Amino acid sequence: MDTQSFRKHAHQIVDWMADYLEKIETFPVKSQAQLGDLLKQLPLAAPKQPEAFEHVFEDFQRLILPGITHWQHPRFFAYFPANSSPPSVLAEMLVSAMAPQCMLWETSPAANELETRMMEWLRSLVGLPTNFAGTIQDSASTATLCALIAARERALNFKGIAEGLFDQSRLTVYASQEVHSSIDKAVKVIGLGLQNLRKVPVDRHFRMQPQELLKMIQSDRAKGFRPACVVACFGTTGVGALDPLNEIADICENENLFLHVDAAWAGSALILEENQHHLASATKFDSFVFDPHKWLFTNFDCAAHFLKDPQELQRSLSVLPSYLQSAETGKAPEYRDWTIPLGRRFRALKLWFVMRCYGTEGLKQMIRHHIDLAKTLYEKISESETFEIASERNLALFTFGLKPTAHESLEVMNERNLQLLETINREGRIYLTRTEIAGKLVLRFSVGQTTTQARHMDEAWAAIQSAARLLI
Ligand SMILES: *Cc1c(COP(=O)(O)O)cnc(C)c1O
Repeated sequence: MDTQSFRKHAHQIVDWMADYLEKIETFPVKSQAQLGDLLKQLPLAAPKQPEAFEHVFEDFQRLILPGITHWQHPRFFAYFPANSSPPSVLAEMLVSAMAPQCMLWETSPAANELETRMMEWLRSLVGLPTNFAGTIQDSASTATLCALIAARERALNFKGIAEGLFDQSRLTVYASQEVHSSIDKAVKVIGLGLQNLRKVPVDRHFRMQPQELLKMIQSDRAKGFRPACVVACFGTTGVGALDPLNEIADICENENLFLHVDAAWAGSALILEENQHHLASATKFDSFVFDPHKWLFTNFDCAAHFLKDPQELQRSLSVLPSYLQSAETGKAPEYRDWTIPLGRRFRALKLWFVMRCYGTEGLKQMIRHHIDLAKTLYEKISESETFEIASERNLALFTFGLKPTAHESLEVMNERNLQLLETINREGRIYLTRTEIAGKLVLRFSVGQTTTQARHMDEAWAAIQSAARLLI
């Protein structure tokens, strides 16, 4: 494709993008595709001869679009948001044209330096101390994996990276029962073994119980194990529970354990002054991650990972073959040594565009608005005759279900809630997902789309009520 055709098609596609965002509400939120729909229609091999771009683009609209779940839809209330915004999309367009590979300072100096400054902006925005340094990871899962590597090597005095884990004493890791599956995955991947991941019981608000944590640490020490790391979760995936960070941080300090805070979703809400008391003990954290790609209007992927002592991670991961050496080696942060892949996308640009186009006040307003919208629906559901709240609202997330009828078994109730969920999603006006609370299947309601307004919440309430009426 020559640049003249590129220019023509690029203009068409920008128009398509703007039209898409304008008419996004006409689509069902959740794709109504059936399993195999697309595969049936795709040829088995790549075309031998070139095809006209018009034809490719038509097929995109005809074949691909029906199989898309519209995450930027204002009535998307499933999972957690993965919100985006026009400034973020514009930055990604520029990045995709330049397609730089930002593994060293020299391979794109601006990418390296912008990343440094953007992490400083975010650090101050969420209220982390200035002695933390940050980098952009592809996901919170990767940040957690890296944090656990640093924790492991601190505990092993950097013997793990040299000798492996043979003959080392058994390290233990602690996280609440409600913690995200990425912790389990990281523990498996870095060779600590799932048996050595302790799941600390939670209180009735689904928060880690610090006293139980302390007991588990002491009991492991008594058995000759070596407690190494605590992963606290600020905003659990099921119900959004906020682990008591300040109490956990005190225990980690006294017990000399590495503390990683997984705030993938809820971290964005820390930009609000009213939430910053949660970070009163942040000087005691070792590692902290949150995802601007979830709730800070920056499209996937963008996970902000902060470390108090990045040296520990760098020492654990650093590689410097001669083909990567340059005159600036060691003078600028070597972000490739803070993570697993060598290649790095230029992700800082979208953060720069987003923070400048909205301003920190604009970002705060949008997040406060989401929390207020969630509050309003939460109140309506609490007062309803048909539904009940299953777990209290944390920020912009709560769970609910149908009110049980007299003597209804858990099984029957779960079946009714599942039918409610499926009816809602089939109808397509809104998209919700579920979780389980003590064996009870409940529906999650999570607000965080960039364009969600009060009227979308009214439509959501109407969709929930009409689905319930269909079931009765
Ligand atoms: C979403 C989420 C993750 C995973 O985030 P990725 O960036 O997709 O890896 C981890 N922990 C919590 C608490 C989450 O909500």
